[in-house]
Amino acid sequence: MKIITTPAEMQCRSDAIRRAGKRIAFVPTMGFLHEGHLSLMREGRRRAEVVVASIFVNPTQFGPNEDFGRYPRAFERDCALMQEVPVDIVFAPAPEAMYPAGAQTWVEVAEITKGLCGAHRPGHFRGVTTVVAKLFNIVKPHYAIFGEKDFQQLRAIQRMVKDLNFDLEIVPMPTVRESDGLALSSRNAYLSAAERERALSLSRALEAARREFAAGARDPRALVRAACAVLSATPEIRLEYIEAVDSESLASIARVERPVVVAIATHVGKTRLIDNAVFTPPPPG
Ligand code: AMP
Repeated sequence: MKIITTPAEMQCRSDAIRRAGKRIAFVPTMGFLHEGHLSLMREGRRRAEVVVASIFVNPTQFGPNEDFGRYPRAFERDCALMQEVPVDIVFAPAPEAMYPAGAQTWVEVAEITKGLCGAHRPGHFRGVTTVVAKLFNIVKPHYAIFGEKDFQQLRAIQRMVKDLNFDLEIVPMPTVRESDGLALSSRNAYLSAAERERALSLSRALEAARREFAAGARDPRALVRAACAVLSATPEIRLEYIEAVDSESLASIARVERPVVVAIATHVGKTRLIDNAVFTPPPPG
């Protein structure tokens, strides 16, 4: 497994791989890897001859009062996990290599990033789409693999790829969960045992919404109500938002006629956690 730290060297490598007629699958991450990340890398392994993963805690997607400084980092451990996949190339640049002095260009996806997390984390998605656009230009992948765990991020990146004609395919992958339902997240490392128990209310709330949907509910407010009933049983967590919106446009809907995503963000102690679930109505008739 080769570790590359500069954009120029990565570009040079990717050019050589492409010239050799090989395909590149790319998995961008912020490190502190778990099974969710590894599932994306294994999908990359299935699709392409060369798998590149990046480890970069991207400063521009964190707000001033967010956890950039204390975001968990474990590069050696991450490398050992990636070697098992196996990943071929790890791109791990320093912040100064990605954002040299004088940088002033941003990539911004307008509509899809307005609601949900975008409404509560100003500048977050601009940081995400900018770094992902840069990484695409550096790694030059044929496939880029993203988790549905960060659903709004996935939709923003799909929109960006379409709007800016990036010549690659975005591959979405399902959320990997613990056996009790908790969605894997690097931020779960922040949770105390009591907080971890409280965090289970997110996936349980989504299960309640799923049951409501399976029972025939098609009013998005009914799905939200069912989820809220579960969340309110854990008063220690602070709900940031819960919404049921169109799973493509992330716009509000009056009735579920196409796939709907129920998305939740909460604060459990000092830790911000998100989760979501998509429900698809059966075709009529
Ligand atoms: P992160 O390092 O948290 O920025 O995530 C890097 C990639 O892994 C993103 O595409 C995430 O959506 C994805 N990811 C994070 N958690 C999970 C999970 N539990 N299951 C599947 N993918 C995930």
